[in-house]
Amino acid sequence: MHAASTVYASRIQRFRLPRVCVAVVGEDPSNIIDRAESLVRDNPFMEFRLDYLSNPVAGLPKLKHFLDLHPEATVIATCRRAVNGGKFKGSAAAQLEVLTKAAAAGFQLVDIEIQSAEILKSGELATLKDRVGVILSFHDFKATKRLEETFADLKAYPADFYKVVSTATMLHDNVQMMKFLQAHSAQYEMVGLCMGEQGIISRVLGVRAGSIFIFAAATRGEETAPGQVTAGELRDTYRIEMVDAATQVYGVVGDPVGHSLSPIMMNTAFRRETVNAVYVALHAKTLKDLMSCVHEIPIRGLSVTIPYKQEIVEALSNSDPLTKQIGACNTIVRAQDGKLYGFNTDVAGIVVPLEQRLALSGAKILIVGAGGAARAAVFGLKSKGAEVFITNRTAEKGQALARQAKAKYLKRADVAKSTFDVIINATPLGMGGNKQSPLEEKELNTKFLFDLVYVPAETKLLKMAKAKNIQIIPGLEMFVQQGARQFEIWTGKPAPVAEMAFVVSKALERMAPHPEEQNEASSNGVAKRTAKPEAEAPKPAKSAVKKKAKPAPAKSAKKAAKKAPKR
Ligand code: NAP
Repeated sequence: MHAASTVYASRIQRFRLPRVCVAVVGEDPSNIIDRAESLVRDNPFMEFRLDYLSNPVAGLPKLKHFLDLHPEATVIATCRRAVNGGKFKGSAAAQLEVLTKAAAAGFQLVDIEIQSAEILKSGELATLKDRVGVILSFHDFKATKRLEETFADLKAYPADFYKVVSTATMLHDNVQMMKFLQAHSAQYEMVGLCMGEQGIISRVLGVRAGSIFIFAAATRGEETAPGQVTAGELRDTYRIEMVDAATQVYGVVGDPVGHSLSPIMMNTAFRRETVNAVYVALHAKTLKDLMSCVHEIPIRGLSVTIPYKQEIVEALSNSDPLTKQIGACNTIVRAQDGKLYGFNTDVAGIVVPLEQRLALSGAKILIVGAGGAARAAVFGLKSKGAEVFITNRTAEKGQALARQAKAKYLKRADVAKSTFDVIINATPLGMGGNKQSPLEEKELNTKFLFDLVYVPAETKLLKMAKAKNIQIIPGLEMFVQQGARQFEIWTGKPAPVAEMAFVVSKALERMAPHPEEQNEASSNGVAKRTAKPEAEAPKPAKSAVKKKAKPAPAKSAKKAAKKAPKR
């Protein structure tokens, strides 16, 4: 906080603002109040978007009543002008009037854009700041650029908080934002983040770099941008209130990665084992972007998922022999020397659940598929002495893998004539809303069936196997075991496997589509992904209130049915 702190701002600082601020919008004051009433217990820090009201000044007496009833709440009044990305059609002077009256009504903070500050008469902003804590803000809805120049403009005006919100179009934009926050947060009260799905990490790591707080969606279904994190997730999954400069950073990298279950699983493990670490989703559009980000953010470890598992091997300083043999890496460790080393824990993800059930040496195992997961299975199981068979849609690919791993290639026509100890599905068939199966019932002549697909928890293939009294192994077990091994490599501690499995199975349950949605999804083939257009401003509470009245699981399930998670 700089020298000219007001009484109000020092009060805010003394009470220490929560890290998470939830935006509340509504088409009339009653909507805002209804929504705020339902949120205030868990979210004592809120932003009321007065610009969504047709007459913000007329709405203030009702909002004052809420503020009087909830002295525990800290509320920002924002009345963003339409020209600056908000909904308020009035002039900068009219905006100032709304914010001044909001201060009188009891709002502790007001947000005003620099574009308005530039229009106001000299001294008007200072007068407002004498009455209320002022957040002077700048939003870039397209890019992350010229942050320093922007800040030079901002700090020419008096404010208690300087807020810079940009849009990330690549992962490296987050690095820019974090460097910017780090450079100024010792001297100024800064708030900063990157919008957009590529900006997910700034929502968590921004506070580590010095952002006083961060904005979040109230609940799932009220996200206003791809990759936006809910207040609950920020607090419960990412433990945002605990994140500090000493917090170690881990993450999962892929494209897409927004719906990965790895953050919930790995953050649960870190919390359970009291490791001061946070695990985030890094959405990298290119390997170059990823590597430049990894070298500039002190990332201690990464989970790697589609499409970088193969490509990334070349970018590492070294990898273990199995990773080299498989040609794919799903785990990266940054060693003390700063260099990046690769491992493949998908092998453990496949081998461990099987070893818990049968002796692998001499076991007859059929692997369906010849992609990355199949390669991990083939080499991992060969190294355990199993007799490995491969069948694949593209025979040449399967044959090449069989030659390389000294396994046997089986023509699809011969599968039904053979019997196995284990059959492993390493194709995506059955994933998401897709109700296909890689094998027919008559081909399931096996004691164990391991389906690597883990969404849904029970695939068509697993159902068919169950009906034939075959012992089934769901893909969830691979997911948990590969993550557990990662945790152990990174921390040197045993992973809390049961806890990890519990949170992932609960998350899968929440994602399970309703029967009619399943039908809709399956009739469309593979599950669809919804890509919402980027938008900074939340939807009005009228719809939010209505949404709330609907049973929440159905809503999130519908979305989930359309989004098959990635690791
Ligand atoms: P990948 O490298 O893309 O390989 C996919 C394999 O599936 C290829 O052999 C491909 O055959 C085959 N395939 C694709 N579509 C097919 C179809 N319509 N009919 C028959 N075969 C088809 O993928 P991956 O990384 O190996 O992953 C495969 C699956 O494993 C994923 O979808 C995921 O569900 C699962 N997985 C699970 C975990 C876990 O933690 N549980 C981890 C990794 C992967 P062609 O060679 O003919 O293209």
